[in-house]
Formats: sequence, C-alpha cells, structure tokens
Amino acid sequence: MSERPSPPSCCPAPGPHLADPDWALQRVLDHAGPPLDETLPAVDALGRVLREDVVSGQDLPPFDNAAMDGFALRLEGRPAAAGSRFAVAGAQFAGDPVLPHTGPAIEITTGARVPEGYDSVVMVEHTRIEEGGTLVLEHAIAPGQNIRRHGEDIAAGERVLRAGRVLDPAAIGVLAALGVARVRVARRPRIAIVCTGRELVDDPGRPLRPGQIRNSNLPTLRAQAIAAGAEVVHAETVGDEVEPFLAALHRAREAGATILVSTGAVSMGRHDFVPQALARLGARALFHKVRIRPGKPLLFAPLDEGTCLFGLPGNPVSSLVGFRFFVEPLLRRRLGLADERPLRLPLAHEARLKQGFRHHLKARIHLCAQGRLEVEILPGQESFRLAPLLAANAWIVVDPPDRALDAGTLVDVHGPSHLHTAIPHP
Ligand code: AMP
Ligand code: MG
Repeated sequence: MSERPSPPSCCPAPGPHLADPDWALQRVLDHAGPPLDETLPAVDALGRVLREDVVSGQDLPPFDNAAMDGFALRLEGRPAAAGSRFAVAGAQFAGDPVLPHTGPAIEITTGARVPEGYDSVVMVEHTRIEEGGTLVLEHAIAPGQNIRRHGEDIAAGERVLRAGRVLDPAAIGVLAALGVARVRVARRPRIAIVCTGRELVDDPGRPLRPGQIRNSNLPTLRAQAIAAGAEVVHAETVGDEVEPFLAALHRAREAGATILVSTGAVSMGRHDFVPQALARLGARALFHKVRIRPGKPLLFAPLDEGTCLFGLPGNPVSSLVGFRFFVEPLLRRRLGLADERPLRLPLAHEARLKQGFRHHLKARIHLCAQGRLEVEILPGQESFRLAPLLAANAWIVVDPPDRALDAGTLVDVHGPSHLHTAIPHP
C-alpha cells in the first residue's frame, strides 16, 4: 500500500498534484466496462481468453484401445505364463469399426478399438509366431495390460477448461480432441495509437533531416498492444497542433477504437497540447501526472460512449510504462481476466532509488549460482534509453520506503506484458 493518502475520487487531479498510482489505476478500472464476447472456431482461438467453462461432452479416449502394436488376447481375467499359446483369428486395426471377433487372439495396432471380450494386449516384441501361425508369449502377461480405457484421460461431464483461461496450444489440442467446434472468447479490445511530435518520421526508408527522429513509440506500442491481447484498429502520427490531433482521434473512433492511446504532448512544454485537446472534446482528465517513474505526466480521460483516452508521455520508456501498468490492467478487465499478481523475488544487489515515486525498472531475472531466481536492476534506466529493454525480461515495480534497498529485499516483478510471465532468458 502507498504511504500517501489518496485524494478522494470526487477530487480529481489535474494541475500540479501528483496522483497516487493505485488511486489513478482505480480511476482507470472504474471505466473498464464489462468484457464483450464473441464466438470463434476453436482452431482460430489461440491466445484468446475463454469466457465460458468447457465441459467435456464425451469420454477421451472415446473407446478402449490398444496402447501397442501386438495382439489382443482373451485371458478371461486370468494371467498367462510365458510360453502360453494362442490361435490368432482375425485383426483389428486403428479406424476399424466394431468387428465380431471371437478367437483367442487377434492382431491389433496402436489405437485400434479393443473388441468386447479381449482383456489384454501383448506387444509384438514380446511374442513369436510359430510355424502354422500360433502365437507364443515370450513373457508372462496379466489381464488389463496395454489397454487405454475409455474416459481415462477425460471423462464425459468433466470440466476441462475454466472461463478466464488463455487458450494455448494445449487447450486448442484438447478442444479438438473433444470435438468442440466453437468457443466463446473475449473480443479483443480495440485500441488506437496516435503519436504526436513534429520531429517524428514513420517511414524507415526516409532519411532523417536535422532535428528529426524515428518514431519508435508507434511500432513498440502496436506490438505491445497485440501481445497484450488487443486489436490495433488505427495508428497514426501527427505533429504538434490540436486540430490534426483531434482529427486523428476522430478517425480512431471511426475505426472502432474504444481505447485511445496518445504519446507525447502531455508534459509542460510549449507544444504539450493534449489537455487543450481534451477541453475541445468537452472531456476532463481524471488525472494528469502520477507519482511514478518514469512516465509521470500520464493523463487519463473518459470520453463519451465508453471510450477513453490515455495520454502517455513521449519518451519511449515512459510511454511503455504507461501502457504496461495503466492500459494493460484495463485490457485485463475487458478480457475478463483477474488482476495480475506479481512475482516476489529477491533483489540480486543493493540499490538506491529516489523516494516518493513508484519506480518501474527495466529488470532481468536470472538464476543465481545456487539455482534460485533473483532479479537485477539493469543499468540505463533513463526514459529515453531503449537498448536496456533488449536485455530486460521483466519489470521491477517498487515504491521504496527507504532510499536504500538491501540485496535480498523482496520486490514485485512483472512480466514484459500482462500475458507474458517473467522468465529467465535461456
Ligand atoms: P514529449 O512528451 O512530446 O515532450 O516527448 C518527450 C521525448 O520523447 C522527446 O525527446 C521526443 O522527441 C521523444 N518522443 C516523443 N514521441 C516519440 C515517438 N513516437 N518515438 C520516439 N521518441 C518520441
Ligand atoms: Mg512532443
């Protein structure tokens, strides 16, 4: 919990006031709205969030079948000793329907239905065929061997997947095995990204003129949004004037975006016009400036018809932190996911941090010499520095009670995106 008292919700926070990050996030979540659902072919649902429990309508395996290539035997419930002999009468192969077998042994292949009355399968490697075609066991066999029973994996009526599960390849496979054709999933929240700044160049093939830089926020946030389960329905770059910015927001909404994310123009500079644009829309920021580092000049405003605007600062790491820790929690609500829980890991080293801010630190999880997980704060925390993100596999989020943090202090560790747990790089 934060040590600072949160301003009451009737007292929003534009101006010099620094909103408490927990309070600010709560204001965002107040506007999350319920998840919207859609039904998809199960095979197309990879990465989507399930919105219903899936109960198996059938047994898996659907029938008793052979676990080995070999022979199905009628043992009548009794074991058979090595050297036992069986006449082989017929065969049952994978894909065969119910065949009327009656002989003491039949040839069988892996996955073939074990016919009624046969109670064990002996693998072909444990048999020999005598001249004349008689089967001889080379090892003793007990009843019930090498038969995969119907329902042994999943029984009819069993709940196999719960609502809120992110569908991974394992889930897609089970749905296919059970013949589930369609699943109800959360619709991808629709996002637009509008980058501001007359210095920005989008086209990587265009040489930079003096004073220009390449727009890295747009591709970064687009990728981050997709990784976070959203659909980016509109993205564009504008300069530093209100009118083109408003026109871009209009296009974003026309494209169906309900979450508008801008970068730049929210700080204290001469060209920081986003608050002014909000006023033109008749909207009001619920907060503008949050007690976080980096990314303090973060702004959030609900617009009409369930739409909202996040004004993220322009510095690349600031905008990423704003997205990761304020937009993504909203995405989780819209996806029907429970709030994230961080890992708690020991710091690999001591650290000194400025007090009074919640810090979001580019971090790296690794295994210490004893094989335990620990986390290090990477060098290069400045908000313009992108290169340390290449070494990072996690974020440390810490609101330091003291300026110095000892090595071994447990800190909150979040993954690179809310859908990607922090794991050590191989
Ligand atoms: P601003 O918040 O607009 O004052 O921008 C702060 C810093 O971030 C400035 O150095 C900008 O040039 C830089 N910046 C703003 N937008 C972007 C962007 N889309 N890509 C990369 N850098 C940016
Ligand atoms: Mg700018």
